[in-house]
Amino acid sequence: MTTLANPTLQDLENAIRNVPDFPQPGIQFKDITTVLQNGLLFAKCIDELTNDYKPGDVDAIVGIDARGFIFAAAAAYKLQCGFVPVRKKGKLPYQVFEQSYSLEYGDNTIAIHTDAVHKGSRVLLIDDLLATGGTAGAAAELLNKLGAQILECSFFIELKFLNGRDKLKGFPVRSLVTY
Ligand code: AMP
Repeated sequence: MTTLANPTLQDLENAIRNVPDFPQPGIQFKDITTVLQNGLLFAKCIDELTNDYKPGDVDAIVGIDARGFIFAAAAAYKLQCGFVPVRKKGKLPYQVFEQSYSLEYGDNTIAIHTDAVHKGSRVLLIDDLLATGGTAGAAAELLNKLGAQILECSFFIELKFLNGRDKLKGFPVRSLVTY
């Protein structure tokens, strides 16, 4: 565990644990729990994800189920804005819009409450990792349906070789660590 007072992006990358063949053979799973367990590294992630914004610039941060919630909620606290969850199908209690997509392993459907953001709201979309872009692309579709203005899609990790950005054309995309 690092004890550096001012961690760098390289320190963040060094702290990510690669777990081969999880949750199925062939997947190199990027385990971020080894980053989160260090407060300085976690804070560095949040600072890097939010450093172009100040309180008042953003109406809501939209986090994607489940690891995206960790970064999005902390970023929302930092920017003093709302937090909105995009959840897996069947988890949100009120009326939802749903969007289906395929991901690196399997298919999925995500949902957002129909009143989660107002038309024209300025939002940041945050998830832990951008792989094929299916998840984030579907979340962006849901936000489009609500009339939100996506300022940026931000990820701690990006698997560049899977070209996830292609599914987020038209939006600025930020990632802190790329493979
Ligand atoms: P995708 O829709 O293909 O961009 O996949 C992104 C979502 O799946 C994120 O919410 C990640 O948490 C998860 N994910 C996909 N691939 C990996 C991976 N290699 N390691 C960790 N999480 C992953």
